[in-house]
Amino acid sequence: MQLTGRNIIGFETFSEGTVAIQAINPANGETLAPLFYKATIEELDLAAEKAEKAFQIYRKQSGKQKAEFLEKIAEEIENLGDALIERYVAESGLPQGRAMGERGRTTGQLRLFAQLLREGSWVNARIDTALPDRQPLPRPDIRSVERPLGVVGVFGASNFPLAFSVAGGDTASALAAGCPVIFKAHPAHLGTSELVGKAIQKAAEATNMPDGVFSLLFDDGHEIGLALVKHPSVKAIGFTGSYKGGKALYDAAAARPEPIPVYAEMGSVNPVFVLPRILESNAATLAQNFVGSVTLGVGQFCTNPGMLLLQKNEAFISALEQHTSTSTGGVMLTTGIRDAYVKGIENTKNYTKIIGVGKAPEGFTAVEPIIFHTSIEDFTQNPHLSEEIFGPTSLVVEANSKDELLAAAQSLTGHLTATVHGTPEDLAEYADLIEILEQKVGRILINGFPTGVEVSHAMVHGGPFPATTDSRSTSVGTMAITRFTRPVCYQNFPDSLLIDELKADNPLNIWRLVDGELKK
Ligand code: NAP
Repeated sequence: MQLTGRNIIGFETFSEGTVAIQAINPANGETLAPLFYKATIEELDLAAEKAEKAFQIYRKQSGKQKAEFLEKIAEEIENLGDALIERYVAESGLPQGRAMGERGRTTGQLRLFAQLLREGSWVNARIDTALPDRQPLPRPDIRSVERPLGVVGVFGASNFPLAFSVAGGDTASALAAGCPVIFKAHPAHLGTSELVGKAIQKAAEATNMPDGVFSLLFDDGHEIGLALVKHPSVKAIGFTGSYKGGKALYDAAAARPEPIPVYAEMGSVNPVFVLPRILESNAATLAQNFVGSVTLGVGQFCTNPGMLLLQKNEAFISALEQHTSTSTGGVMLTTGIRDAYVKGIENTKNYTKIIGVGKAPEGFTAVEPIIFHTSIEDFTQNPHLSEEIFGPTSLVVEANSKDELLAAAQSLTGHLTATVHGTPEDLAEYADLIEILEQKVGRILINGFPTGVEVSHAMVHGGPFPATTDSRSTSVGTMAITRFTRPVCYQNFPDSLLIDELKADNPLNIWRLVDGELKK
């Protein structure tokens, strides 16, 4: 498929803007053709107008119809073949294997939402049947179900050009919920975005979805993004990226005459606690696996373990030194991300000691891994040390006692994950640590590493602020669908006016809570 650089607005494409941008190959610094036309405010208005009209049709599509649409998107992405993989690699500097894995994750995610829609019970149908003879007052017939919110604006992250981008988790969950999507492309992967945007456009036409159910707009500044958040047609926002970006969009949404929810998944340091007994037998393996997790994907994961806390253990520190010095970094996604990493590292050097430094390979934006060390006292006096540095680095904090470790856990802000490594005896002795962590994060892992987030029904990829702007949800897994719905209650409705999910004879055969009992 030939790239055009044109904005995708429903079933049409436009390039009304006069300013063009280009993607850059971070491995060699070369610009990549073609030129992409920055969207204009008029083009955003058109996308919003089409999306609002599309919503009136799309919100009434059955689960089966929406499932067919999502499955067709997955098929069209696969049909892009090697062209998609080649463009992904050229724009991101990430290896081909990662690109293929991420494509599988993206299509798998779309198909998982399709399964959810076909099964249908996700709508949380509740029925309290009428009690006309109840004293002192009769009870009316009350039924409720999740309904779509409206048009959703989505921002993709630089570090997942497929799985958290144009057809990524936010788009999949919004479309599954019955909401049209207007997507603001990330400037770091413009070509990948257009290819996937075209796949969605094709799938929408092939499955008879309404014109405007999906639009893709290009921009490399904040004008279109901010206008999207403020647009009166938009009813919710999905975002993955920096704290600065997510918070700015959250504030803009809250300041609208009609405030709307912003589901922003932002930075996280993902603390790892290593308990004393497991270190006695496992220090070398733990150090090796930890360095592997820190350097995976050049550390460009929101679940990267950016902090490790333990009680003093020399064997572990020396194993870390050895494994870090033999580790290799890689090409970072953009010059901006590389510069932020270098700045963060230079700043951290002023407050800590270095445990080990790895090697940087050849490449325009290539960096080396580095692991730092600090005492619990210095860590407590310098709160900025607990801020995320996006890249292959981590800070090891050594405490003198269990109490100090617990106090450090208590001082944590919100994170996406926390990990505890321990023997069964450790875990029993540190049960209070788990209690604290449960109040700080969205996912707690035992004896694992947080990189690698399964797309499944039970997954929670979220957490208290500042990890996200809304801790009550997840941006990965099928539970994400309810971010873009709201419950609607129907009182004393005749059966003929009810949607199938709530009709008396349950034609969709879904699980429903009927008079307090879950049944089909
Ligand atoms: P980003 O800078 O937050 O950008 C994400 C998207 O939001 C881009 O499309 C960006 O547009 C837009 N945006 C950012 N600030 C905005 C604002 N004030 N108003 C309107 N739109 C705005 O994230 P990134 O480019 O993916 O990576 C940069 C940093 O984010 C990294 O160094 C890292 O610290 C963090 N990060 C976190 C995660 C995570 O999963 N939590 C993932 C990736 C990155 P433009 O680029 O066009 O300005």
